[in-house]
Amino acid sequence: MTTFANSPDRFASDRPSILDFGKEDLEKLVVELGEPAYRARQVWKSLYGSLAPSFADMTTLAKSLRGKLEQAYTVSDIETAVHDRSRDASTDKLLFRLRDGELIETVLMRYAADDHRKSRKTVCVSTQAGCALGCTFCATGQQGFRRQLSSGEIVAQVIEMERLARAEDDAEIAAGRRTRGERQGVTNVVFMGMGEPLANYDNTLAAVRVLNDEQGLHIGARHITISTVGLPRQIERLAGEDLQVNLAVSLHAADDRTRAETMPINRRHPIGELLEACRAYVDRTKRRIFFEYVLLRDQNDSTAQAAKLGRLLQGMLCHVNLIPVNPTGAGPYARPQRETSAAFQETLARHGVPSTVRTEKGIDINAGCGQLRARALIG
Ligand code: SF4
Repeated sequence: MTTFANSPDRFASDRPSILDFGKEDLEKLVVELGEPAYRARQVWKSLYGSLAPSFADMTTLAKSLRGKLEQAYTVSDIETAVHDRSRDASTDKLLFRLRDGELIETVLMRYAADDHRKSRKTVCVSTQAGCALGCTFCATGQQGFRRQLSSGEIVAQVIEMERLARAEDDAEIAAGRRTRGERQGVTNVVFMGMGEPLANYDNTLAAVRVLNDEQGLHIGARHITISTVGLPRQIERLAGEDLQVNLAVSLHAADDRTRAETMPINRRHPIGELLEACRAYVDRTKRRIFFEYVLLRDQNDSTAQAAKLGRLLQGMLCHVNLIPVNPTGAGPYARPQRETSAAFQETLARHGVPSTVRTEKGIDINAGCGQLRARALIG
């Protein structure tokens, strides 16, 4: 199902978005407007708790403050251009239009409860319009870099999906399938959409802090995953942040020659340098790293490659997500046989490296960055 939205001129204004303010900056702003600092908390809760779509909807605020904010700022910078839903209704992909006309993708994936985990709703956000890194399997990468997203533009994607998720909760409560206490909203956020999050480091981290804030959306840090092609300096920097987020590194090959064929970044930062940064990250944070490995038939899916990968990762606190490529995707890549994926996994296990073969989401709507990364996520 596809829904196209009209483009109202609500973005004709060049007022900055209030979503670009962190908590402390918002407090400063409110004081500068001549209001007591505690009013900033009310604005914050209206934005991220009540999801107020406009200042006029922030009815807990004094009218004078609403007026002052309205004059100088807007609430959101994004609008829905296209809304796709997969046939099985498990996945929604939204194309958002930014105020300068740039288009970005965001995906909502619904996972039913299983024996190990509760049901969850995961949002995959974009951090850049376009991408400079040019991975050959990725449609975004082929389009080139357009610009960085602001922290507010990253957070706004989650807010829009949270609205959808809350509406679904309400419908289930009305139908008696869920109690009010079982409201769920968005449970997980993965930074795996368009762009390289660590190449937009400050805005990505600012967005993580907003999403994680307990007076707002309150998405637990352990339910947030930052995915990177592997920028060693930024991985080291991330290790020093006081954050419990998950880190996922796209490896996709076990040797430099094979990796450089699909990921040009490997020429600048070869596997050895990348894994050194990963080991330092694990040492410092004591947190497991997730490695993503897209299985491409006859390219990187042999047991010899698996053994090489096993030797590389042996002894590291990590988990490998094996992602059989989607056969309908662009590019000369084919999906490996099921037995090949299983043999790959067994070989890793023999080296003591744990792994999971990931199931795909939203295949019929091309969900996610470059039609690859968001298909099989760390829900
Ligand atoms: S896969 Fe990610 S990092 Fe690579 S080109 Fe696509 S958006 Fe950029």
